[in-house]
Amino acid sequence: MPVFELEKMTFEEVDKLSRDDTLIMLPMGPLEAHGPHLPLGVDIRGGIVLTRLAADLLSERGYTVAIAPVIPYTISNAAMPFAGTVTLSRATIVALVQDIARSFARHGFKRLVINCHHLERPNLAALREAAEGAREFAISVLVSNAILDSLPECAPLMKGEHPELDFHAGEAETSFFLWKFPEEVRAKYRDLPPNWSNLREKFAAGAKDFKEADGPDCYFGDPAKGDAQVGEKLYTIQARVLADEIDNWVKRTAQ
Ligand SMILES: [Zn+2]
Repeated sequence: MPVFELEKMTFEEVDKLSRDDTLIMLPMGPLEAHGPHLPLGVDIRGGIVLTRLAADLLSERGYTVAIAPVIPYTISNAAMPFAGTVTLSRATIVALVQDIARSFARHGFKRLVINCHHLERPNLAALREAAEGAREFAISVLVSNAILDSLPECAPLMKGEHPELDFHAGEAETSFFLWKFPEEVRAKYRDLPPNWSNLREKFAAGAKDFKEADGPDCYFGDPAKGDAQVGEKLYTIQARVLADEIDNWVKRTAQ
């Protein structure tokens, strides 16, 4: 089966898709500052690329996959001190995702996977709330956790001193962009000093945004260690973990 992209299909073509078997995959990522060296769309692009890679793997395993257009906004309060970042409220996220799920459910589709490249906890919580609420429309919604789940396998491939603290616009995301969109990486990435501020601890201690968490330039990690080959490896692992997560979810919930 090819991987379908809904925005390129006609309604007659969509109508031929099996309602019981087709997985709808929905990438997501905010317009959000990513350091002085990467564009605001890193997570938008990350969501799209990762979703496509995982969809190709699932297709090879016999799944019918239809990719929906990306949602290019999330809750993104952490980066709001930096120009251009857009954040949505929790209520907007819940309503948006439920409206999309309700629409696919009305056409008879049974499964929707949301693959958000942005890991801000309140956003993931809002997505899970939306997924829970979507049950009443007779569609199952999976909010992927694959990026976090793949960290133990990804960390040993990274060259920075503390890959476990490479949270935002650091080595991993810089490597991703050097692999897929190298012309968009500003050359200054090579001169940026590592920032090993522990984002999770800082937020737990009350920091409200990346600035308060000691990320004055909106990055955490070691962008200067960015490497295109590492980027390809990291996203290949993440795609496999995502495909496995979906595969397991379908099998677990099929009974
Ligand atoms: Zn990001």
